[in-house]
Amino acid sequence: MTQHAPDHPPAAPLQDGFIAQVEGVRVDTRHWIGGRRVALATAGAEGAVATFTTISPIDESPLAEVCLGGSAEVDAAVAAAQAAFPGWAALSVQERSEILRRVADGIQARIEDLSRVETRDNGSLIRSHRRGVMPRVAMNFRFFADYAQDHLGHPDLTVPGRGHRERISYDPAGVVAIITPWNAPLMLATWRIGPALAAGNCVVLKPPEWAPLTASLLAEITHDAGMPPGVFNVVQGTGASAGAPLTRHPGINRLCFTGSVPTAGVIAAAAATNIVPLSFELGGKSPLVVFDDADLDLAVEIAVEQFDNAGQVCLKAARMIVHESIAQEFTRRVVDGAAKLTQGDPRDEATDVSALITRKHFEVVSGFVERAIADGARPLLGGGPNTDLGGLYFRPTVLVDAPEDSEILTEEVFGPVVTIQTFATEEEAVARANDSRFGLAATLVTGDRDRAERVSARLDAGTVWVNCFFVRDLEAPFGGNGKSGIGREGGVWSFDFYTDIKNSVFAPSGWKDN
Ligand code: NAD
Repeated sequence: MTQHAPDHPPAAPLQDGFIAQVEGVRVDTRHWIGGRRVALATAGAEGAVATFTTISPIDESPLAEVCLGGSAEVDAAVAAAQAAFPGWAALSVQERSEILRRVADGIQARIEDLSRVETRDNGSLIRSHRRGVMPRVAMNFRFFADYAQDHLGHPDLTVPGRGHRERISYDPAGVVAIITPWNAPLMLATWRIGPALAAGNCVVLKPPEWAPLTASLLAEITHDAGMPPGVFNVVQGTGASAGAPLTRHPGINRLCFTGSVPTAGVIAAAAATNIVPLSFELGGKSPLVVFDDADLDLAVEIAVEQFDNAGQVCLKAARMIVHESIAQEFTRRVVDGAAKLTQGDPRDEATDVSALITRKHFEVVSGFVERAIADGARPLLGGGPNTDLGGLYFRPTVLVDAPEDSEILTEEVFGPVVTIQTFATEEEAVARANDSRFGLAATLVTGDRDRAERVSARLDAGTVWVNCFFVRDLEAPFGGNGKSGIGREGGVWSFDFYTDIKNSVFAPSGWKDN
């Protein structure tokens, strides 16, 4: 494997008051509430402002001291969103869409800044941010700005009843709370902020404590785009300090969460008490099923892609399920391909695999692999930390012979670790693929069209890719089955969630002018 030691100097936190310099980009570390930067003094702490440290996974160096929000900041943000809501909802769809298009332009203009800060903060590859992720972040606003005009801007849909006219309208719900994870912070936040705002709602975002910084830049961009104060708010903090009070807040009307299953259980309980509709995008343990009629080059290419973002991808195909007649060749080629990946500093364009997000997560991933090997799985590649690089770099790992039902085949590892299993019949392939409590995605590689139709229909997943991977239009639905989530977003499904759909039934007679 090619090594790429972090050769950029590990920077000490460069912070002047609330302004941090991250990769040469100025980042304000205060909350964004009601169109203003806010740093509240903590009650009982003699006027001190509580902060937390965000640490770069690249070299474990501290990056910034970020204001730590709590109930007071959440109350202020929800109040600001509620105050802004009537004015924002009263704008025409076209007026709102124009502002959202300016946000998209602002993101586009700052792709380099956003990429540099996100890469330093969460350790994802800069080349992915520059070329894929950040353009898609802009698209999350532009697409829903256009889509709202096509789908919410028309005169209300009317249906004839028994002589009655039934007018169906899509009214914005109010205040939308959005809580996001660290593996793709800005992408996962904006994919919900875009449609929520386009539909006329106001938003309070709680970004992840392990990678909070790009949310602050987004706040700046929305301000520069002329978004009215209070329409978009950011409260930083941990799950316990800011996330929990936001989920319990009586002023929120929708709750969107992307993250892990255990946290989802806690949040679902809060939403149940609050009686707030929720949308959950959770974990996965997705299969890649490769038939003996598959284009093997394509299958191997898709398999090696699974090490992207050091495997910290919810949609990752962690379980490779391969026809026994090609398993040996497939495995050899996947191991060869993964061994050639360059591991190192994600700021270098040549790097393919970076570091894990935190020391704690590194230990979680190491624990999974150690227990898998103790259970009988055999590592054909990797199996432990990259000792040449040190820090949080874990080697791409390919495991075979994992015992049926063992932890490594059932639990989400969220690291650069894949397993390979075999099957003899189509029936067995489907059964293995569906043998999971998750159901986020499934990928199928086959050269047989009929088989592609048949098997894709039987796979239990919100998204099934056939001879492709990781492509989806924003107009299509996205979400997970089983423990991978609740609800669907994307296209009209987003507007179904972010609006209160109303049916007004007009009697055919009784008008003064009848
Ligand atoms: P996590 O559940 O630990 O945290 C996610 C967010 O929830 C963070 O912002 C955190 O501060 C907040 N949070 C934690 N406790 C909370 C509480 N009690 N109340 C309110 N908020 C709370 O998840 P993570 O480790 O940050 O992310 C990794 C997980 O996210 C993986 O399971 C991954 O599969 C999943 N994920 C899913 C998708 C998807 O679209 N399905 C996308 C990305 C990541």
